[in-house]
Amino acid sequence: MRKLVMAVNAGSSSIKFKLYEIKNERVILSGIVDRIGHNDAIFKMNFNGEERKAILPVKNHEIGVDLILEKLVEFKIVESIEEIQGVGHRIVQGGKYFQDSAVLNKDTEDKIEALIPLAPLHNAAHLVGFRAFKKALPKLGNVAVFDTAFHQTMEEQDFLYPIPYEYYQKHDIRRYGAHGTSHKYLAEEAAKLMSEVKHPRVITCHIGSGSSLCAVNDGVCVATSMGLTPLGGVMMGTRTGDIDPSVMFFACQEEGKDVKEMYQIFNKKSGLLGISGVSNDTRDIEDAALKGNKRAILAQKMFARRVADFIGQYFVRLGGADMIVFSAGIGENAPIYRKLIVDQIKEALGVEIDEELNSKVRGKLAVLSTPKSKIRVSVIPTDEELMILRDTVRLLNLK
Ligand code: ADP
Repeated sequence: MRKLVMAVNAGSSSIKFKLYEIKNERVILSGIVDRIGHNDAIFKMNFNGEERKAILPVKNHEIGVDLILEKLVEFKIVESIEEIQGVGHRIVQGGKYFQDSAVLNKDTEDKIEALIPLAPLHNAAHLVGFRAFKKALPKLGNVAVFDTAFHQTMEEQDFLYPIPYEYYQKHDIRRYGAHGTSHKYLAEEAAKLMSEVKHPRVITCHIGSGSSLCAVNDGVCVATSMGLTPLGGVMMGTRTGDIDPSVMFFACQEEGKDVKEMYQIFNKKSGLLGISGVSNDTRDIEDAALKGNKRAILAQKMFARRVADFIGQYFVRLGGADMIVFSAGIGENAPIYRKLIVDQIKEALGVEIDEELNSKVRGKLAVLSTPKSKIRVSVIPTDEELMILRDTVRLLNLK
């Protein structure tokens, strides 16, 4: 019998899933149940290069999970559900409790629940997803893989904000970071690309619609750009990133809006979208910039400068760098942004990339730096689900 693991990312109205064979880390299928709670929910599954799609009512996550399991058998993707040995769940917020992934038991579940105020949409939905899998497959082990765990090695002077210390003591207000599973994967893959470097210092740039950077010293995170929530750090598709906190006060006053409304605007209507007025998607902004749209050009420049500033900061923090990694939607697929970012750092850091190669690399592993470059620059497609598989196998002893 084959041994399989399901990697799950449950949202408030969706369940994304990937089924892996443990032995060779092969993806057997991937899919999504979307628009859960609606009569026209969408079920999609990709396997052997084929896509199956159905529109049907899916009342809740439990029905969504039953549907996934039913389809696996119906399409003979598994011989029996018994082949599935464990389920790994992406959990956005692990707070101060989790430095590593954890087996989902009562204690883990209670802690994820207690962290709901820090990630209201995400953690609540992850628990609904987990409970639905537990109900459908009660004998199986489940593992929680936290986006924050990799960043728990930061020092106090990095994770604390200079606000009254009691706010940290009373409310756990501090930097947690995000995309940790991705940064960990990227740092590990970067280390493999330069196996001769004994203690690799890596700056990982996960830049997609949400963006964050991480400074990784010999596999250990020392700093990351996102903060209490994913709103902090570099400018993003629709999020501000770091700004002077008095902007919140002044913008509310001048616009006659309350803090909640402005918080939504900082999350959903700012960043590349807010500056360009065109879109949050770099592809649309690139098209507009090519036609001479000034605000689109400005949005590109602002984004690149903010990413470059963090690279400079992390170069100092790490006492130098052996590799800069670009990843996620923009980092993997948008050569123009990689070029704009490298242009900002090349003089100070002695970085040089092969621009022709850069212009051709989309969605695949590549080393862009020339032999003359003082820091290597690479593109590494991220794979958070693979990390979920690996941690599920490790923590449930599934080998
Ligand atoms: P998420 O945070 O939703 O995981 P991604 O990492 O998938 O985001 O990034 C999506 C963003 O990447 C898009 O909004 C767009 O700005 C950018 N992007 C640029 N080129 C591409 C491309 N060819 N395919 C997908 N996304 C792209």
